[in-house]
Amino acid sequence: MKGPAEAQVDLAAITGNVEALRQRAPGPQLMAVVKADGYGHGMIPAARAALAGGAGWLGVVHVHEALALRRDGITAPVLCLSGVPGAAHQDAVRGGIDLTADSVPLLTEIATAAAQAGRPARVHLKADTGMSRGGATAAGWPGLVAAALSAQAAGHVVIAGIWSHLACADIPGHPSIAGQLAAFRQAVAVAEAAGARPEVRHLANTAATLTLPETWFDLVRPGGAVYGLATLPGGAPPWLRPALTVRTRLVLAKQVPGGTPVSYGHRYTTQGPSTLGLIPLGYAEGIPRTASGVVEVLARGRRWRIAGTVCMDLSVLDFAGEPAEAGDEVVLFGPGDSGEPTAQEWADALGTISYEVVTNFTGLLPRTYPEVAYGQGPAPAGTSSSPAGSAAP
Ligand SMILES: *Cc1c(COP(=O)(O)O)cnc(C)c1O
Repeated sequence: MKGPAEAQVDLAAITGNVEALRQRAPGPQLMAVVKADGYGHGMIPAARAALAGGAGWLGVVHVHEALALRRDGITAPVLCLSGVPGAAHQDAVRGGIDLTADSVPLLTEIATAAAQAGRPARVHLKADTGMSRGGATAAGWPGLVAAALSAQAAGHVVIAGIWSHLACADIPGHPSIAGQLAAFRQAVAVAEAAGARPEVRHLANTAATLTLPETWFDLVRPGGAVYGLATLPGGAPPWLRPALTVRTRLVLAKQVPGGTPVSYGHRYTTQGPSTLGLIPLGYAEGIPRTASGVVEVLARGRRWRIAGTVCMDLSVLDFAGEPAEAGDEVVLFGPGDSGEPTAQEWADALGTISYEVVTNFTGLLPRTYPEVAYGQGPAPAGTSSSPAGSAAP
């Protein structure tokens, strides 16, 4: 650890997770979802690590993310999962990026951009099969398909995919799963009957990739599993390895008497004579303010709860009678190898999902990549702890 704190990303774990997913779901192609800066792991290093593990596609939300992958020299197919009117569609078409279309106006906008760019846009038509988020409803679907087919006939688009998204894949046995699956099959049938010949039909997120083979079709789209996480009850299976470790050091340790109130609002008071340790991480870095008294961290071989209100850039640990010193390492969460909590444990304590825990740490905290686990290329830009020349395996 060079600075006072770091988010350390195990790229070998990402590669290994994708390899393991490919083994367990060998039929479909795999799109590694790298939105939200690779779920907080760094989009480009995560993407390269996933490609090294056998991902054939990358999924992002926005055109600018896809363009950043292209600028870095990544040539794999990339799909923008959200249709966003007014996005840089011409640039996307020129960059060979696949776009989602879920309404006739958006499809028309993309076709116009493609005409201006001088090459057809590859579009994936998105059906709303019951999530009620993006996607065309069953009523709007035939019109979207017809618009796409006529734009395809005019040479402006290629219908590359048809897809949808499951609302409850992580709730085993939820009746909506079968309903969405049937609605998706129906949407595909309607499009194919109208003459569409999509290369890929896709529906499965992490939970569905792990538990619902009937949803795999031609391509699965795991995000969380790539990083060793899942939203299923009990979290991810043990053959997936969490890739993110957040660690820091005590920047101050001091003795205080029993009955000492701690931090904003004095919401915590020491029980007896204590050593208080200060860590340079707070809610600005990614520890939710609601983590006070709730989540545990590992220090000095034991777990400790955060004592008192989490501040913007600081939090306090109460080591009670245990000695603690400035410089002592504190692991917030990681794969659990050394007894540190996992992001899943933080999520369970906080009443959220592990994805939110890890993506909270996208902002201020420097990311480090101790091993460059992918390809023969140079260390990714912005990685701080890979010495030059260590990149080649
Ligand atoms: C985020 C996302 C995924 C990945 O979901 P996970 O649960 O992380 O696997 C897949 N598809 C779409 C449309 C998404 O938005």
